[in-house]
Amino acid sequence: MRAQIIALALSLTTTTLLYSDNTLADTRILTSIKPLELLVRTIATEDMQVSTLVPPGASPHNYSMTPSKRRELEDSDVIFWAGPKMETFLNRLLTGSEFGGRSIMLMEHDEDSEHDEDSEHADSADSHDEHSHEHDHGDGEDPHIWVDPHMALTMAETIRDTLAQRNMADKPALDANLEAFRASLIAKEQQIRTQLEPLRDTSLFAYHSALTRFAEHYNLNIEGVLTLNPELSPGARHIAEVQSSLRNANHPCLLTEPQFNRQWWRSITTGLDVTFSTWDPLATDITANPEGYVAFQQSIADAVLKCLPENAEH
Ligand SMILES: [Zn+2]
Ligand SMILES: [Zn+2]
Repeated sequence: MRAQIIALALSLTTTTLLYSDNTLADTRILTSIKPLELLVRTIATEDMQVSTLVPPGASPHNYSMTPSKRRELEDSDVIFWAGPKMETFLNRLLTGSEFGGRSIMLMEHDEDSEHDEDSEHADSADSHDEHSHEHDHGDGEDPHIWVDPHMALTMAETIRDTLAQRNMADKPALDANLEAFRASLIAKEQQIRTQLEPLRDTSLFAYHSALTRFAEHYNLNIEGVLTLNPELSPGARHIAEVQSSLRNANHPCLLTEPQFNRQWWRSITTGLDVTFSTWDPLATDITANPEGYVAFQQSIADAVLKCLPENAEH
């Protein structure tokens, strides 16, 4: 008799646990690219699942979605993406009726949150004033917004606001995660600023515009971008211009990206004294955990530091 009661109690407990597990794990978050997954992981609570659409090694500029990825979209509750200038393959889907309601375009949010930010979070905005920098985040067409740490923070705020609207969201935990991220990112940003001081005289060249916002944020000089549109090969005239800038540059350093063919770079730098380094705007090798975004910032700084003559790889 007693054993039966215990068995009944156990089965009730199991049922309850299963049920609440299902309810809690109900928020399935999908991000277009890995760096956005890293940002979501800084904010999301343990009951939320996070995954990424564009697989390792693929470029969001020319990705075409597989049927299984399409099913992941259907199964998701919230979708974060940068915007139509970045993940062009998602344009029609994420602005359409099926997914539009659960899609958050971070580039748009970034642009119009500049102003509400100062008024709504007036008391937490002092960190922005302290670290005010020369470039204007609202401007510019460059869609690689996640490489700029302050834009990343604004995106994290949007992510917090979005996830706080979910049923059963643990708002204090989401807020605490955001504040922890803010503190560690600001510390990392200052550390990187110091690390990059000696790079003031170095002329950086990038494969495409992905590095631009990072360089602007930390006052680095990008003197050339090899291809203006990463989906196309650059024209002969543009290559000639880049070669001429390389020839006249002070310690030129080419920052290549693993998604693109390095041999092609070699051919245009033949006969020139150029340093090479590789960085990954898609954070492929960064561990997907709450510390991942800060590690990603450092990984970009590390790649740029390899441009220094004493660290150089020719
Ligand atoms: Zn890109
Ligand atoms: Zn910035």
